[in-house]
Parts: sequence; C-alpha cells; structure tokens
Amino acid sequence: MKLNGTSLNTPLNGTDTIQHGYGQNGHSTAQLIDEIGDAHGAASIDTPMRPDAFDLDDATKIDLIEAHFREIMGILGLDLTDDSLNGSPRRVAKMYVQEIFKGLNPANKPEPTLFDNKFRYNEMLVEKDITVQTYCEHHFVPIIGRAHVAYISSGKVIGLSKLNRIVDYFSKRPQVQERLTVQIADELKKVLETEDVAVIIDAKHLCVSTRGVHDVNSSTITASYGGKFAEESTRQELLRYVSQASVTI
Ligand SMILES: [Zn+2]
Repeated sequence: MKLNGTSLNTPLNGTDTIQHGYGQNGHSTAQLIDEIGDAHGAASIDTPMRPDAFDLDDATKIDLIEAHFREIMGILGLDLTDDSLNGSPRRVAKMYVQEIFKGLNPANKPEPTLFDNKFRYNEMLVEKDITVQTYCEHHFVPIIGRAHVAYISSGKVIGLSKLNRIVDYFSKRPQVQERLTVQIADELKKVLETEDVAVIIDAKHLCVSTRGVHDVNSSTITASYGGKFAEESTRQELLRYVSQASVTI
C-alpha cells in the first residue's frame, strides 16, 4: 500500500534505525523506546506531522485505517467473522479520524469569537474545571482530567465556551500533557493578543493506571504562566480561585 510513495508497511520518519540499532549505555533501542514512553517527555511544541498529512481525505483515511486495524486484530488471533468483532475495525477507524484525533486537522480548529472589552473588566478571568480528554501519544490510551485557563484582557474578550473548545481541539490529538498545556497557552496568547495567559492541567494517564506501574491514584499537573501570571501575587490569586470549591447549581 502506498501513501505518496511511502509504504505504510514501513516505519515512518526513519524510526526503523532506532528500532533495530543499539543506544548508549548498552540499552537496546526497543528498551529506549519503552523508556521514552514511560518518561512521557515532549520533544516539540508542535505536534510532529508529516508534510503530506492532509493529502488524503477523511473517507480515504477511514478506509485505510479500517484495513490496517482489521490486520492488527487478525494478528492478535481474533476471529473477524464474529458478529461482535466484525464492525470494530471500521468503528475504530471512524473514531480515530472523526472523533478522538480530529484535532490533528487545522480545518477543525475553532474560530474564536472576540468582543471588545466594553465592561472595562481588567481583572483576571478564570475558566476552571474544563474537561480534558486526550490520548497519550506513546501508548494511545486516554489521559483524562481538568484544565483551568485564565487570562487578563488586553482589550479583547473571548466567548467563554471558546476557551473550552480550544482546550478540546488541542486535546483531540495523540498528545503529551506538557505539549498540550503549551499549545493551549500559545493559541490563547495569539488569539487574545496578550502574554497574560495561564493554563493548568491536572490529569490521570491511563497508561500509568491501567498498565506499567498500575498506579490508579497518581495524577499529573502541568502549568504555563505567561506575562503577569509569572508574578507571584497574580499566580497566587489564580491558584486560590482554582482551589476553591466550584459552585453547584
Ligand atoms: Zn503513556
């Protein structure tokens, strides 16, 4: 199968060398790859994408992923003629392209609705407890948690629900939590034309709770404090709001 001259049967981006070579300290590269996965480090702020990422349309991507996932299930020994399993490859393919990884496509990026700051509200605005559902790019299992997003207006205000939508857009990708935090912060800085933006994410990684160390209690907190939020008093004010119990209605 060919995708612009690259066979889908060969590893992408030159990972072939890494998989078969040996790293430093006598570790096999297979071991190193496991360690990178468990370290959950982010290598880049931009999601690493192929230059031809959007040459195929969504329908073609779904067809290709379906065929490959059918293959994976078959290799695992599952009987694809079984009624319960037969539709799974297509379900998974549609879920990848149309739902959980749809944030890879810039066409799905939310258009921010901005308003003039007519109320002359010059304090921080905090949108807290935004649901985060993203996917670990090392293990392709969910990361589930909450984001708290704050900004101080430089003259523009954003529709509140757009804050949730921006968090959701960058979440719908294979991710590492550090990169997700920075991508949300960078987008808000750009849209709101201010450095005074903070993002805090507290999330549970299912690759930590359901495999590997099997720790169901630990969660991971990441934070980005830009502009005035780097100042101790502003940061403390934000942390106070975030730690307050949420209103119930
Ligand atoms: Zn992971």
